[in-house]
Amino acid sequence: MQKILNYINGKLVEPLSGKYLDNYDPSRGIVYSHIADSEKEDVEAAAEAAIRAFPSWSQMATEDRMKILLRLADLIDHDLDKLALAESIDNGKPVKLARSLDIPRASANIRFYATAAMHFATDAHVNDGDSVNYTTRMPVGVAGCISPWNLPLYLFTWKIAPALAAGCTVVAKPSELTPMTAFLFSQLCIEAGLPAGVLNIVHGLGNKVGQAIVEHPQITAISFTGGTVTGRKIAATAAPMFKKLSLELGGKNPNIIFDDCDFELAMKTSIRSSFANQGEICLCGSRILVERSLYKKFVEEFVKLTGELRVGDPAAEGTDLGALVSEAHLQKVLSYAALAKEEGGQILTGGNRIVLNGEFSAGYYMEPTVIVGLDEKCRTNQEEIFGPVVTIMPFDTEEEALRLANSTGYGLSATIWTENLKRAHRVAHQVKSGIIWVNCWLHRDLRTPFGGMKQSGVGREGGWEALRFFTEAKNVCVKL
Ligand code: NAD
Repeated sequence: MQKILNYINGKLVEPLSGKYLDNYDPSRGIVYSHIADSEKEDVEAAAEAAIRAFPSWSQMATEDRMKILLRLADLIDHDLDKLALAESIDNGKPVKLARSLDIPRASANIRFYATAAMHFATDAHVNDGDSVNYTTRMPVGVAGCISPWNLPLYLFTWKIAPALAAGCTVVAKPSELTPMTAFLFSQLCIEAGLPAGVLNIVHGLGNKVGQAIVEHPQITAISFTGGTVTGRKIAATAAPMFKKLSLELGGKNPNIIFDDCDFELAMKTSIRSSFANQGEICLCGSRILVERSLYKKFVEEFVKLTGELRVGDPAAEGTDLGALVSEAHLQKVLSYAALAKEEGGQILTGGNRIVLNGEFSAGYYMEPTVIVGLDEKCRTNQEEIFGPVVTIMPFDTEEEALRLANSTGYGLSATIWTENLKRAHRVAHQVKSGIIWVNCWLHRDLRTPFGGMKQSGVGREGGWEALRFFTEAKNVCVKL
């Protein structure tokens, strides 16, 4: 069976312990490869390699770094089909989604930051003819990048691309649930000629490998994407060490639909923003708020279209939803369907596990689920479920829509559907979320700051923000 090895100091290496974890194919519920079960000592070896590589990588001409990174992006594009299939087998998502979203966005991340670093500039100003100030920015050193399982290569590259482009060297850890594309990526790094030690990928469990990265005294910046509970733990470790910290955490995003919306577009996009990637996208709109005058019509149509979604073999062209990432996660999501009923909610469609035939019979499939009849305070409407489950709530006024939208501890993203321009801006300004989409969803412009408010995160990624995060500013004041 294939072994997923660590990538340390430019080489693919066994974990020092010689131990491996099972890696599952969620669509079939079977072990299909083994993943390095690394320890603190592997992280230590990776950090040493990164420390050794830092002087030459950070001092290399930005253009030369760019050329290497662009080669890497081209290699991802070249291997699009192979990587998309690997991502689908590892994660359970439809191959066509990995092919159209995850993998193209991975190479786009690398290309964007490789070239952005060429345009990254600092300021200089004369202070009333008395002194001149100029600012320099230096790479922070060795960065730790930790990513989740839902968009594996996409979010892995989202973290490491700006770090490498800024001149940092990196110790990275992909999720132990979806390590395959990061492993294939490490092979591409070797092919692209990335110097040894510049990027090191250590596979294994969060509480061992992730924790060791966060605790390592010479890993001075931590860029993390994952759950809010893990983020809190990471902050508790990193903050007293005065590490730079970027946390991209969970969401419970409102999808606000006013009755003057473009109904067809709002409906079509809401189906996607509810159930794309099995609802396992931090930006999914899991709480749909609908103006009461449109509520009945919206619910009827939404339930009908949800019932028509095809759940099944992720490799089949017609599949809309594949498998959830793991048996444990499926059980967690199913438990929320049960909780919704306990809380007095009504499941209009879905709520159950799906058992498919043949080779997929042990896969982790679930019906897309629509729940109504709950208030905003219940756990179903407060906690991140991170699966194909949405609730729908009616509202009467704009004020009520805002109150419902802002009623959770999360503040990652929100979507607003209205043809009223003034209202669109007014509501966008009052929803406490870091990312707002008006009449669209999941559009990304990599130049814009990305991140959440409240318990959805600390700091901003994207554009210059990421290059600033991985560099430290110094001001030099010269007396004239
Ligand atoms: P998770 O927090 O369980 O794990 C994320 C990563 O952290 C994994 O690599 C894991 O191994 C590692 N980890 C676990 N414990 C650790 C520790 N003590 N120290 C260091 N690292 C540790 O999250 P997940 O289940 O993989 O991902 C789902 C979550 O990610 C959801 O909450 C989702 O909303 C969130 N997410 C957020 C964004 C965003 O941009 N805000 C994007 C995608 C996913």
